[in-house]
Amino acid sequence: MRWDAQRLGLDEPTALPGMPSIRGLLRSVQVPEFPGLTFHEVRAKSALNHVPGESAMPFPYTINPYRGCSHSCRYCFARKTHEWLELDAGRDFDTQVVVKTNLVDVLRRELARPSWTREHVALGTNTDPYQRAEGRYKLMPGVIRALADSGTPFSILTKGTLLRRDIPLLAEAAQAVPVGLGVSMAIWDDELHAGLEPGVPSPRARLDLVKTLADAGLACGVFLAPVLPGLTDGTAHLDAALAAIAAAGATGVTVIPLHLRPGAREWFMAWLSRKHPGLVPRYEQLYARRAYVPAEYRIWLSQRVAPLLAKHGLDRQKGGAARQIATGVPGEEEVGFPEGSLPTGGMPGARPSSDHPPAAWCPQPEEAEQLSLI
Ligand code: SF4
Repeated sequence: MRWDAQRLGLDEPTALPGMPSIRGLLRSVQVPEFPGLTFHEVRAKSALNHVPGESAMPFPYTINPYRGCSHSCRYCFARKTHEWLELDAGRDFDTQVVVKTNLVDVLRRELARPSWTREHVALGTNTDPYQRAEGRYKLMPGVIRALADSGTPFSILTKGTLLRRDIPLLAEAAQAVPVGLGVSMAIWDDELHAGLEPGVPSPRARLDLVKTLADAGLACGVFLAPVLPGLTDGTAHLDAALAAIAAAGATGVTVIPLHLRPGAREWFMAWLSRKHPGLVPRYEQLYARRAYVPAEYRIWLSQRVAPLLAKHGLDRQKGGAARQIATGVPGEEEVGFPEGSLPTGGMPGARPSSDHPPAAWCPQPEEAEQLSLI
């Protein structure tokens, strides 16, 4: 709850020269409460993005309140998308955050259209909706209310413990519509965490979040991701992680090795060269041909994790909801979402899809690469 004290309007932001490449830019501001960050406030034309039909993602719509992410994960593969704004995929991604200030108003308008089909809307698919900017702009409560009021099922994936602030609201929303919640975590070593996820709340804080959600009666799936070859794939590390996740009350776990796409690859490998030069040849070999680890590594990791899942009651045989080791992005054929991270149960108020009116209006298509998730 580091950012609870931030309140929009308590300070006098400094208007900065605008950036013409950002569509709808109103102003760019820096405020003392968020040193090092620049917020580019824009008026968005649309709130809902339509996921392309060919995508295997289990949700047809997404909402992205922010672009860029102050959580600053070195391995984040949403980085590349910042280049579309003529900002760089490295430091600019971490510090230059685009904020859709009118998001809730636009969303309410879109949800009120007769043609809105009330299908699953996912948040956290590109950048984190509970990153630091949310402490200032507070867009998520309005988004949650708008979705629940319209009878729209939704899911949120985050590493941000600021989500705690909205637990009462989420519990209320879950009475009205199916809600899925996911938290991702994989690094338990403090030094590694500080080096690789410098803006993310500590793993302990995220575990506490999972526990608080469980205590509030909300399902929460955990993405044990990304598992880093040679750094976090040791038995002791995985054992400690799965023990802690089980103890926190997660409803499901999916284990996903690191994938390195262009944008993230350069940023991550620069860090690896500085901090763990001895691992560079291994990574170059593992990721030589694809952004994903080869099948041999996946099988090896799967064999290592299987007994640990059983030990901690997370395997299917024991009633747990763990999935197989995944190689790619959740939503791709072989990759499962952990139990609890997708909306489940009935859909009060939602019409069956066959009952949908013809789409006189269609939300903006989502760029295929804006599905980063972890
Ligand atoms: S991986 Fe997620 S939390 Fe980390 S920088 Fe990317 S969007 Fe933010």
